[in-house]
Amino acid sequence: MTLRPTDSSALLIDGKLVPGSGGMFEVIDPATEHRIGYAAEGTETDMDTAIAAARRAFDDTGWSRDHAFRARCLRQLRDALRSHLEELREITIAEAGAPRLLTAGPQLEGPVTDLGYFADLAESYSWETDLGVASPMGIRTRRRVLKEAVGVVGAITPWNFPHQINFAKIGPALAAGNTVVLKPAPDTPWCAALVGAVIAEETDIPPGVMNIVTSTDHRLGAQLARDPRVDLISFTGSTATGRAVMATAAESLKKVFLELGGKSAFVVLDDADLDAACALAAFTVCTHAGQGCAITTRLLVPRARYDEAVAATARTLSGIRPGDPTAPGTVCGPLISARQRERVEGYLRLAVDEGGEIVVGGGRPAEHDRGFFVEPTLIAGLDNSSRVAQEEIFGPVLVVLPHDGDDDAVRIANDSPYGLSGSVWGRDPDRVRRVVDGIRTGTLGVNGGIWYAADAPFGGYKQSGIGREMGVAGFEEYLETKLVAEPAN
Ligand code: NAD
Repeated sequence: MTLRPTDSSALLIDGKLVPGSGGMFEVIDPATEHRIGYAAEGTETDMDTAIAAARRAFDDTGWSRDHAFRARCLRQLRDALRSHLEELREITIAEAGAPRLLTAGPQLEGPVTDLGYFADLAESYSWETDLGVASPMGIRTRRRVLKEAVGVVGAITPWNFPHQINFAKIGPALAAGNTVVLKPAPDTPWCAALVGAVIAEETDIPPGVMNIVTSTDHRLGAQLARDPRVDLISFTGSTATGRAVMATAAESLKKVFLELGGKSAFVVLDDADLDAACALAAFTVCTHAGQGCAITTRLLVPRARYDEAVAATARTLSGIRPGDPTAPGTVCGPLISARQRERVEGYLRLAVDEGGEIVVGGGRPAEHDRGFFVEPTLIAGLDNSSRVAQEEIFGPVLVVLPHDGDDDAVRIANDSPYGLSGSVWGRDPDRVRRVVDGIRTGTLGVNGGIWYAADAPFGGYKQSGIGREMGVAGFEEYLETKLVAEPAN
């Protein structure tokens, strides 16, 4: 089969590719603002059918108990996706505005490969642990701990890294023996729907085990969260929506797994190579136009070297122009939508209103008359209490803040409702370690270390989320624990 965008105009429900009962909706290329096609408009009726199919597949088949079969299916899916990499790449660039460069890593190839990691876990995981014999209340008893799938997983995902986030849910959820209903973001329906076409036509994943409902209707996410047939909600998106999802899921007391927003700190200590650190901080915030929850968006530098740091960061930022995501060298592509661009531009105006200085950028790049581009922007002259330092902007915007030493840097890094990621730069390992220990966040890179990998747990402290994705910890989010006790001789 050859994947074409037209294959993306179907939902995957109960093993079949079916049209959305709401018709179709437009898919827009954020770099050109052109309509590039249509996706299936799922409705509440479609979602209801998908949940019923997932429930049946979990309750009435051996899927959750056949670890080897699931591992085989996941490897089959990985291999089938690999055979479609080039088609998927073009679609990801066109639909998400993802720079081509990133599709060799976390925007496509990395997450496809990671499916193999979860397949391996299905086979190697200790599904049963013998706790040995004990004599509670004087009765000799042998106890075993069984790990089992939770049941039906409702996966709700955003648009910024569609494959990474979809597969970081589908991979462990299926490997652990669950069945899944995926509701991707309205901005990136094709990335999910094409995976649905591959599942239906090129894998042995049984009907109902994996369902995908694309839609512009956010209420379908709430429907998944509310439905008592769904046992677990795995959500990635904004903190505000995560809060709503958790409240809705509370009605049926289902397990909730949340990956939310961030405002992560890039901490430069006074013994660090300031130029190298500032250059990396600037480059990082331009990656995928800053549309990454774990991107470091607050640069904390020693007060005595503040001006020097602003100049070094500005040099790198002014050298990175937002560009055509199809071009091989582009790092900073467009924002996903006009709405998102307006939101980012609102924050740029706010920075000025708050008394800040826009050192670099601050507007739309003159060289693009179409596309939702924003210039890489550096904001200086504000402290950490400003709204642009506290709120997630989700664009190529870096706020540079002064600190008065290691303890103050830790205090500022922690003075945030979020705690998703971060970076620490310094030469003295003991000082670096104290700062690492002090920052309340889920992932930290030290001196440029990369924390992203299939076996590396990722997630947030505080309002950045609940639970961990990826790694064994991410797999175990999709498991229940059953204790079995029987008389021992
Ligand atoms: P969003 O919260 O607007 O939407 C995410 C998903 O939730 C979409 O599929 C949407 O349709 C659905 N949704 C919307 N309202 C809902 C409701 N009431 N109930 C259930 N589902 C609902 O987020 P977005 O704008 O698509 O993505 C950007 C946000 O995602 C940023 O805040 C970013 O930080 C966050 N994000 C977090 C991570 C992470 O792992 N922590 C990763 C990527 C993005």
